[in-house]
Amino acid sequence: MKVLKFGGTSVGTVGSLSNLKSIVDSLEEPAVVVVSALGGLTDRLIATARAASEGDSSFRSSVAEMATRHFDIIDALVPQSRREAVREVIAELLAGLEDIYTGVALIRELSEKTLSRIVSFGERMSSVIVAEILDNAEHRDSLTFMRTEKWFNRDIAARQLTDDLIREAFPLPLTRTVVTGGFISLDKDTGEITNLGRGGSDYTAALIAAALDADSLEIWTDVDGFMTADPRVIRDARVIESMSFIESMELCSFGAKVIYPPTIYPVFHKNIPIRILNTFNPSAPGTLITDSSENLSSDVRGVSSVKNTCMVSVSGSLTSNVAQINSRSYNAMARNGVSIFLVAQPNAATSFSMAVSELDADRAVEILSREFAPELQNGEVTGVSIERDLSVIAVVRESIKEIRGLGARLVNTLQREGIAVKAVSDGASESTIAIITSASDTDRSLCLIHTACFG
Ligand code: ADP
Ligand code: ASP
Ligand code: MG
Repeated sequence: MKVLKFGGTSVGTVGSLSNLKSIVDSLEEPAVVVVSALGGLTDRLIATARAASEGDSSFRSSVAEMATRHFDIIDALVPQSRREAVREVIAELLAGLEDIYTGVALIRELSEKTLSRIVSFGERMSSVIVAEILDNAEHRDSLTFMRTEKWFNRDIAARQLTDDLIREAFPLPLTRTVVTGGFISLDKDTGEITNLGRGGSDYTAALIAAALDADSLEIWTDVDGFMTADPRVIRDARVIESMSFIESMELCSFGAKVIYPPTIYPVFHKNIPIRILNTFNPSAPGTLITDSSENLSSDVRGVSSVKNTCMVSVSGSLTSNVAQINSRSYNAMARNGVSIFLVAQPNAATSFSMAVSELDADRAVEILSREFAPELQNGEVTGVSIERDLSVIAVVRESIKEIRGLGARLVNTLQREGIAVKAVSDGASESTIAIITSASDTDRSLCLIHTACFG
């Protein structure tokens, strides 16, 4: 049994939904199909909510446009006999959405809780429609089985409970294809609507695949596969035929948007292969992601970049207890839910730097200043500082250390072109060399590094 996930662009128009239909209707056995909201709809739902919270009444016309977009698809693709019934379901959902917008406009306030409720309408509508477009499929509401719990200020999947509920919701073997919405969930304690974060439909599909021990997870999107770099930045990026789970995990967590980063772990853990495929070119072979370290090529697998990065540094005469400063820094960040992208220690005796997301940067400084308050007092640590507007460029391949001198060669390539390299993490990870530059140099650095690695 396969789990197939179709992203926003794959469910955006009558044309792309026709492709989805022929892909799913030609499967040999029933599958689980996870869909995103119609392309661009989540952004639209959010923008309309923000405008409503400022008292802007244009939400009524936005909802009317959303209705037209969904009804046009229903009229074009849902069989005549079911059209009216499906229109009614969508009209009822949109009426509920408009009521929420009316409330937001009245009180001029938009809480996170209300915003989560609002964005859920995208997947609730698309999944109902897709189930009706397919030849032999039924709809299952993902709010009945996807559960999250709070982790610091974020909602994360409540794995055990969700796994159990998925197994209850999808008794095997499937007798018909089942369509469900990605991204959306309920808080396991409060029952409020939550979600898995932007791009989270991939993760829903992976959790279903893992809970049901699926044979494979297919991510259907708008490019021919996982590419050597973001094709919007690097025009001659090429499709990667196959890669390992670890490589895809590294590239995605360093910004390759093609898969939402948490997606890979659940299927990796169950050794379920992932295929990245193109809804607009279904016969292209795509990219196969497996546990295939034996399939290693001698080349770099791919490069990616993540902007909005800051470096937080602890400095002083650290000579006597470098290891302790490092481990206390890690622990303090972990206890407070701050993820560290990478560490750099150009001079172990005087400073220790950690790259974190801009969103966490101020908190990271607070946490470290608190942790090292005694040392800051006695002068052993002279400061906790921050450098903003940086990017990380990641160069990925399993056992990357086997490519001798690669880190130094790439740093030279950038420096020759006048790009300042702020830090390098070469050798800390088995599979990634990470280079930190100014955010303004990101695309140029990515381009130079891609050319150096792939010609
Ligand atoms: P979906 O709506 O199907 O989830 P996304 O927009 O989330 O699609 O992801 C697909 C997009 O990811 C591609 O259109 C491409 O622009 C971008 N992308 C970024 N890095 C890569 C990469 N290394 N390989 C392929 N696509 C990438
Ligand atoms: N619709 C959601 C988003 O736009 C989830 C997804 O597409 O994966 O972020
Ligand atoms: Mg996506």
